[in-house]
Amino acid sequence: GLADRLQSTIQKIRGKGKINEADVKEMMREVRLALLEADVNFKVVKEFVKKVSERAVGQEVMKSLTPGQQVIKVVKEELTELMGGEQSKIAVANRPPTVIMMVGLQGAGKTTTTGKLANLLRKKYNRNPMLVAADIYRPAAIKQLETLGKQLSMPVFSLGDQVSPVEIAKQAIAKAKEDHNDYVLIDTAGRLHVDEALMDELKQIKELSSPDEIFLVVDAMTGQDAVNVAQSFNEQLGLTGVVLTKLDGDTRGGAALSIRSVTQTPIKFVGLGEKLDALEAFHPERMASRILGMGDVLSLIEKAQANVDEEKAKELEQKMRTASFTLDDFLEQLGQVKTMGPLDELLKMMPGANKMKGLNNLKIDDKQITHVEAIIQSMTKDEKIHPETINANRRKRIAKGSGTSVPEVNRLLKQFEEMKKMMKQMTGTQQKGKKKGGFK
Ligand code: GDP
Ligand code: MG
Repeated sequence: GLADRLQSTIQKIRGKGKINEADVKEMMREVRLALLEADVNFKVVKEFVKKVSERAVGQEVMKSLTPGQQVIKVVKEELTELMGGEQSKIAVANRPPTVIMMVGLQGAGKTTTTGKLANLLRKKYNRNPMLVAADIYRPAAIKQLETLGKQLSMPVFSLGDQVSPVEIAKQAIAKAKEDHNDYVLIDTAGRLHVDEALMDELKQIKELSSPDEIFLVVDAMTGQDAVNVAQSFNEQLGLTGVVLTKLDGDTRGGAALSIRSVTQTPIKFVGLGEKLDALEAFHPERMASRILGMGDVLSLIEKAQANVDEEKAKELEQKMRTASFTLDDFLEQLGQVKTMGPLDELLKMMPGANKMKGLNNLKIDDKQITHVEAIIQSMTKDEKIHPETINANRRKRIAKGSGTSVPEVNRLLKQFEEMKKMMKQMTGTQQKGKKKGGFK
């Protein structure tokens, strides 16, 4: 993902208090490459990089973030912005039925999406849709929609393949009024390429049925082509929304970025599979994360290194050196790592941890962190600094005060002791090797 590309640059600017122009420039070079690689329109990329650079340069680094994270944050915010807000609302006609035209190239997923959308309309909005088979050209297209209708137990309007799609649409709307179907979803024909005949037919259907929505269905896998398709459909028909299908596949999501900014048409839904429930509202933020490859950036190393506040880390390092690490420090550490993942995994990421034997014994269950916190909070100030003074009676009191048990208190104290031991070991190793240690 994009974040991968940013890694080395992130390493370089780590520890800085302010992000300078050169840092941003370097990161933006990676951003530009990654976006182009994700098949984002070059004009969009240019505009985007400019915007992010302006925002990122000279920013004070927030305490909770490293400079690298800060730039990533700006990038993510701008990516989200570029794709617009959440737009999953569907029009409702003043006088039913609400007519939705589904358009797009062959194989984009129109018919499937028609079924999915009908399903969503019923499930989420309690509507009663009718499906209309207006693709009379593709063999078995009518049958395909009828099969979907059967699966959904929804009416499918069809007049076979000898009546014009315009006539089919007209009669379907009349029938829907009669039968009190409040939504009419017209599944239209596609071609392999945008051509005049296709557009003419769609324009005629549009004129006659005055649709409340015209949804373009595009295959996300086609990347930049999807953007061109969206542009020509929008110019000719005036789209009200885009449905991006096949996002469950191995697509990088570049189309999502460009479609919105090139056509000014919102992406309303995304298709995430072949099944009838695999249609979701489009979340720009989620897509931004996907493009960024947040999954990657949240690798444990990054998490462990990035989330420990730089200042705190220095302080901590000092404490570890002087072995004055207390239970209070431990508690604070817990607070920092709580959101990052399994604690024992994180501890392994600590510098020097690979040299520590016995780390595997230091298993701390994430679910127990809250208990651990409660236990430490139930200790007196003095006990936290001198845990060796915590005798059996005190353990009982602490267990009671924290709503835990004596064995839990014992376990924590033992773990803390081990941790301290390891820290001494670590400090020892560092001194022997005369290396500068601590958190990076
Ligand atoms: P149409 O020609 O535009 O009507 O396209 P279809 O609805 O017939 O879909 C073409 C193929 O794409 C079918 O095999 C669908 O099952 C598949 N498809 C549609 N949407 C999705 C999706 O979101 N994810 C996946 N994996 N496949 C999809
Ligand atoms: Mg079809």
